[in-house]
Amino acid sequence: MNKEVTEFIKDKTLINGQWLEAISGKKYPVFNPATGEQIVLVPDMGQADTRLAIEKAEQAQKLWLKQTAKQRSIILKRWAQLVEAHLETLATILTLEQGKSLAEAKGEVTSSINYIDWFANEAMRVNGDVLPPSAAGNFEFVKKRAVGVVAAITPWNFPNSMIARKVAPALAAGCSVVIKPAEDTPLSALALAALAEQAGIPAGVLNVITASSGHEVGQELCANPIVRKLSFTGSTEVGKILSRQCADTVKKLSLELGGNAPFMVFDDADLDAAVQGAIAIKFYNSGQTCICANRLLVQDGIYEAFIVKLQEALGKLRLGNGLQPDSTHGPLINEKAIQKVDSIVNQAIEQGARLVQGGSYLPEIGKQFFNFTILADVTPEMDVFKTEIFGPVAAVYRFKSEEEAIRLANSTNYGLAAYAYTEDKGRIFRLSDQMEYGMLGINTARFVSETVPFGGVKESGIGREGSVHGIDEFLEMHYVCIKN
Ligand code: ADP
Repeated sequence: MNKEVTEFIKDKTLINGQWLEAISGKKYPVFNPATGEQIVLVPDMGQADTRLAIEKAEQAQKLWLKQTAKQRSIILKRWAQLVEAHLETLATILTLEQGKSLAEAKGEVTSSINYIDWFANEAMRVNGDVLPPSAAGNFEFVKKRAVGVVAAITPWNFPNSMIARKVAPALAAGCSVVIKPAEDTPLSALALAALAEQAGIPAGVLNVITASSGHEVGQELCANPIVRKLSFTGSTEVGKILSRQCADTVKKLSLELGGNAPFMVFDDADLDAAVQGAIAIKFYNSGQTCICANRLLVQDGIYEAFIVKLQEALGKLRLGNGLQPDSTHGPLINEKAIQKVDSIVNQAIEQGARLVQGGSYLPEIGKQFFNFTILADVTPEMDVFKTEIFGPVAAVYRFKSEEEAIRLANSTNYGLAAYAYTEDKGRIFRLSDQMEYGMLGINTARFVSETVPFGGVKESGIGREGSVHGIDEFLEMHYVCIKN
């Protein structure tokens, strides 16, 4: 490992500008999912550490808020520049702890730079309103104020960019943050924190709590009244727990939860583009994203042709250790994930799905590698229809009419991302009207960037991240009426 990578793999966490061990002295190991090797031991923190970080964040926020928007913006820009200067190092650390290919890791770090830079600019555009007076001579206005201390709980599938997408708007708005990265992937968060410190983000404004389980830390983040906002990305199941835990202190919430994305391919679609789109969004991050195509709904007339082409295209992908240049796709995050995907596939086959290819894990590459899999003839009656697969398994369904496709696509409690491939203009408008999703890609499957209001409806979440709206999640309206 090169020297810079070693330097940025931290074995302590940043609280109030100091690199600390857990108060209990406990540590836990972080593993490389491609090899199973231990990378480092990090602090295994609990309630007392979390409370300390929250209290320090509260003190720091008061001073951070006194800086002008321009001063905050300049510091955030410096952070973005430092992340860019260390892109290779951050991407390597990301691949080491998460497994994705180095190319995907570089893409993720680049998106972090874009988020930080975007919100550095947005910091300068937090304006209020002057209202028409409700009584003669009054002066009435609305200003926007930072919500205060923010808790950010982030997942392991994008350990770098999920930090940037939450922390940058929070800091731009004038909030301070306590981050709880996923237990499997704390190293990207710690490396980003080190660069934030170098960029001049003051002590206590950005704090990280590492822990081998989210439970105890999560409880403190939710119950502590100093925390005024929770921004969470993860499973719907945990999102519901956190939302219940936040009820007692009535915190502002942003929840980016699970998805069950339909990927619809109509008879009139450009078949090659649809196959490319399916490969890009189904197998991205080895199928471990909340916007991955979870149900490939393909119309009768091109159904078999689509499957043949999908299989051909899969033949060009290569599973392997993400650090090897020829690997396009990496392992799943841990053994639990492998077992879950394996049982989803077996259950679908037992219920009548046809295994076109894959369907097993590949211990010859590494314990946590699952083969690219296609399941055909999947039906809405099978359990997999309702399950977020989170692995490299394409489940392909057949439909006859547009009405049926829309009905199937919407028959889920989730509502994050949806995709459709069709050349019919009328249908495109009907889909954009009728699809019950926060985001819809037509003839494209990769549209997420810092300019996009990312988020879902139904049980996929509350709130939006990114775009001009992202900063509002960390602001509150404050109305003032000055009587004449
Ligand atoms: P995933 O399915 O992506 O693993 P999780 O919802 O389990 O999603 O995890 C996302 C984040 O939520 C991680 O940082 C994890 O540690 C945290 N987490 C899991 N359970 C809890 C909990 N009970 N309280 C707080 N955070 C939790």
